[in-house]
Amino acid sequence: MEKHHKFSVWYVFLGIWVVLIAQNYIQSMFKIETIPYSQFLNELKDGKVTELAIKENTIQGTMTDKNGAHQQFRTVRVEPELSKMLGQYPVVFKGEIQSTFLRDLFSWIFPLALFIGIWYLFMKRMSGQQPGFMSLGKNKSKIYMENELNVRFDDVAGVDEAKQELVEIMDFLKDPGKFTDIGGKIPKGILLVGPPGTGKTLLAKAVAGESGVPFFSLSGSEFVEMFVGLGAARVRDLFVQAKQKAPCIIFIDELDALGKARGLGLTGGHDEREQTLNQLLVEMDGFDPKVGVILMAATNRPEILDPALLRPGRFDRHILVDRPDKKGRAEILLVHMKNIKIDENLNVEALSNMTPGMVGADLANLVNEAALLAVRGGKKTVGMAEFEEAVERIVAGLEKKNRLINKREREIVAYHEMGHALVALSLPGTDPVQKITIIPRGIAALGYTMQVPTEDRFLMSKTELLNKIATLLGGRASEEIIFEDVSTGAHNDLSKATDIAKSMIKEYGMSKGLGQVYLAHEKRAQFLATGLPEQTDYSEATAQAIDIEIRDLITEQYNVARTILKDQRRILETGAKLLLEKEKIDGNEIKALLNS
Ligand code: ADP
Ligand code: MG
Ligand code: ZN
Repeated sequence: MEKHHKFSVWYVFLGIWVVLIAQNYIQSMFKIETIPYSQFLNELKDGKVTELAIKENTIQGTMTDKNGAHQQFRTVRVEPELSKMLGQYPVVFKGEIQSTFLRDLFSWIFPLALFIGIWYLFMKRMSGQQPGFMSLGKNKSKIYMENELNVRFDDVAGVDEAKQELVEIMDFLKDPGKFTDIGGKIPKGILLVGPPGTGKTLLAKAVAGESGVPFFSLSGSEFVEMFVGLGAARVRDLFVQAKQKAPCIIFIDELDALGKARGLGLTGGHDEREQTLNQLLVEMDGFDPKVGVILMAATNRPEILDPALLRPGRFDRHILVDRPDKKGRAEILLVHMKNIKIDENLNVEALSNMTPGMVGADLANLVNEAALLAVRGGKKTVGMAEFEEAVERIVAGLEKKNRLINKREREIVAYHEMGHALVALSLPGTDPVQKITIIPRGIAALGYTMQVPTEDRFLMSKTELLNKIATLLGGRASEEIIFEDVSTGAHNDLSKATDIAKSMIKEYGMSKGLGQVYLAHEKRAQFLATGLPEQTDYSEATAQAIDIEIRDLITEQYNVARTILKDQRRILETGAKLLLEKEKIDGNEIKALLNS
């Protein structure tokens, strides 16, 4: 490790010493001789003294010596009465000033030393481990550089898809030469995206641990320094250090703290953060992944990141680290149970059933809490009773944070999602359903049905658009059929369905009553000064007709969805139950359902 200029008290002592030497030298150039008071009196009587300056304690002056040259002298004054008396005898006498050394020490050096000491401590605290100006811009990552991490892939469970994607990166780090010889292209930046506590940091460490390379980790908030310009310096430093240690991993945790979209702030943006972000972009563009430096970052808010960070050549590979499903939770529990003594007949599967919505960090916490409860109860092993109590405690805490949904809500979500899926499967020309989950994601969505188009589409027929609307409304229709009541869970679906319907009528000329006219010109009004009423080129009556058409179209499709679901109520119910049990079902399982 390279040595840094450390600020040290010894520098201060060295400085003082140099000053003293210099002072001595200068004094010797204007030499003043100190003489006894008696000699002064004699010289005075002899008429040798030519000049005098009388001070409180001393007399300083000039006299001519034997050679006739001028000589500076100084003497300490003696009480006038005493000197008169002593002057009568041939005795040498002189006055002496009491040493003021101790007084000086306390009045001057001591406070100075105290001041320096406090300043030193302050600097030390401010810049973490490295005190002093010289090292202020240097990177903290040095402290976080870990050569041998003992985190392995086996320690991260329930995120198999993410792990699979990272295996390639690991292979590259183990032997960068092998990859580049073939001409393979290595992604520069990998962004781990997922809710808090799902194991993003752990995964990044596992990649380093498995491939045995150094791991530089820094959190985005650490970059944003209190001194302007230091954040950028940090970034520069980080990359310099990493290149020296290649192959290695640079991991920036909480990238959102640093990479928020520029110019969004109300106050005109945080300049320091922007500078740091710019420097990061510059460094990312400037480095060649062939040297074997892999840049990884993690965030749970990808939507607020500056788009520049996500462009090709930067963080262009995104890996989703999602909340674990039931099977994943059981695996995570097993990982954390390795370290504690578990009751032999503990049912891990039952436990994972009890913990829907929990992420890895919650589960780690759960195991720990259960172990503590066992210790408190004086038990030798941790049993189901402790786990149940621990679940209750943690669930109560998480419910407050709105991160868990209760049983009734889960049921509604399951039927809602199954409704989307079933309508999509029953109508021709809709995208195939790839998976349905009721694992909550993000802030708003409680469940979700993933439909993936089989090919790129540039044109859509009227039937396809109508089917799409019906699919979107399938969620609410299902809720209504099963619970005879509807929930707020459909607002996003309704907004999307309405948008499509509006476009169909106003832009695509797909309405019965209004015919093939284009009625969306008012869009241009968006660019005009605000505050004005929207400019439209159709009459009030047409506006009303449009509204009615939209409503009719939506109602019609809602009825289509309802009919489909009513006809297949049995499948809807078995599907929802399966979903409640497994939390996630894939395309094949859904098809099997239809054929059952
Ligand atoms: P994130 O960075 O996604 O917020 P962390 O990686 O910091 O989450 O996870 C915090 C802790 O939770 C980890 O140290 C680990 O003990 C536990 N944990 C989280 N996810 C997992 C997982 N998938 N498998 C095992 N343990 C996990
Ligand atoms: Mg983290
Ligand atoms: Zn929905």
